[in-house]
Amino acid sequence: MKSVPLSWVEIDRSALLQNVRQFRELIGPERTFLAAVKANAYGHGLLEIAGTLDGMPGVWLGVHSLEEASALREAGVGLPVLILGYVPLDGLGAAVRLGARLTVSGEQTVNRLAEICRRMKRKARVHIKVETGTHRQGLRPEHVPRLAAAILGRRELVLEGLSSHFANIEDTTDPSYPRRQLEVFTGTVAALERKGIRVPIKHMSCTASTILFPDTYHTMVRVGIGLYGCWPSKETYLSCRLQKRRPVELRPVLSWRCRVAQVKRVPRGAFIGYGGTYRTTRPTRLAVLPVGYSDGYSRGLSNASYVLLRGRRAPVRGRVAMNFVVADVTDIPGVRLEDAATLLGRDGEDACPAEHLASLTGTIAYEILSRINPLLPRILV
Ligand SMILES: *Cc1c(COP(=O)(O)O)cnc(C)c1O
Repeated sequence: MKSVPLSWVEIDRSALLQNVRQFRELIGPERTFLAAVKANAYGHGLLEIAGTLDGMPGVWLGVHSLEEASALREAGVGLPVLILGYVPLDGLGAAVRLGARLTVSGEQTVNRLAEICRRMKRKARVHIKVETGTHRQGLRPEHVPRLAAAILGRRELVLEGLSSHFANIEDTTDPSYPRRQLEVFTGTVAALERKGIRVPIKHMSCTASTILFPDTYHTMVRVGIGLYGCWPSKETYLSCRLQKRRPVELRPVLSWRCRVAQVKRVPRGAFIGYGGTYRTTRPTRLAVLPVGYSDGYSRGLSNASYVLLRGRRAPVRGRVAMNFVVADVTDIPGVRLEDAATLLGRDGEDACPAEHLASLTGTIAYEILSRINPLLPRILV
């Protein structure tokens, strides 16, 4: 069936490339840039983003799962892929076949991986994740030398990387917690070196630390939200100004649009949508939009956000439903059936940023972007 989408996501290729350039200038040509493309590239489309970056020297891709790594290889993407998340023991063989790098934080994975590699007559490259204070995935520093030695003792395995992840950069302007985490990480590196173990790739920097703390770069940085043109938080921006650093110039990459499915007039005093949570105070023109919370347009935006039509703001009236949103276009003359409405992103002179939708729903831009329904088409422009 020919698809005529009600709603689609536009990806601004030149904005993406500019963001990559900004970060690569910051880190310098000798360091590797890992683009975090997990969660469907933060909603931007895994293959669209990976395809745009494919072929760039010094670029890696970071995914969460084996399935994402597999989708990249099936699409013919040739960039090195690091799986950041957990791979089930029964999935390790598939990961080796894909040539994906694995993040490990325990001996069960290492032992099983070595066995599988021996049978397959293949090698696997692994990165040990070090627990430095996030208390999520990772191995405590005092146990790292033992796991490193176990990996080095297996001919089938290559200890390629050592990684960690910051817990508390984005929510504060106080750098003391990340400083401590950095110390634990560099301490772990030093402890390994004292035992004669040199790990080629060391990495712990996300977007916020890449903007704020050059001493966290090591040999590779892992950038997600900044790649897509968003600041991690207001606090990161403020910290950047307080430190008198030149802010990176990030351009949002994504615009989410839909067609107007109906334009109608309703009288003063009309209730709109489920629960009758909005009642018109004047004769009103409404645009019915075929998008709802099942597409990732949060129900928390009911009576709160706006969409853009003809570059102007149309307030959302009533509840966001599973597949419908209603916007008030009384003050925007000329809105017609099948006009493109912008739910998120830029339209002409105005925009509805992911950060704005995030603040209305008590979350962060990461969640707004990554929850846009992956089934909607992504279109490179
Ligand atoms: C998602 C992720 C990143 C990227 O974080 P941003 O704040 O989006 O830059 C980096 N490292 C790991 C391990 C991640 O899972």
